[in-house]
Amino acid sequence: MAENSFQTCPRCGKAIEAGFAGKAPGLSFVAPDKLQHFIFLDEDVAKSGLSKLLPSAAAFFRSYLCRSCELYIIDYSTTLDRAQAKQAAQSMTSGK
Ligand SMILES: [Zn+2]
Repeated sequence: MAENSFQTCPRCGKAIEAGFAGKAPGLSFVAPDKLQHFIFLDEDVAKSGLSKLLPSAAAFFRSYLCRSCELYIIDYSTTLDRAQAKQAAQSMTSGK
């Protein structure tokens, strides 16, 4: 499992924001401290019978967002399941 994480934007060199991309229709950016809410939301939606609109299994990718030049990098090399994403989010937010 490659642990390559970006600290700065490869295009403009400014600080980059690490988060997660959800495997869902369209692209989303989920900040680590929001991931738990995102997971609960996902589960609520599934329970209300809208699961057909969502992928059967939740999957997340590490992603990096540069708000300066609006570059969005998604690391598709590693797929995180719900538990792994939650764990990664906790380690990302607790380390600060
Ligand atoms: Zn940039």
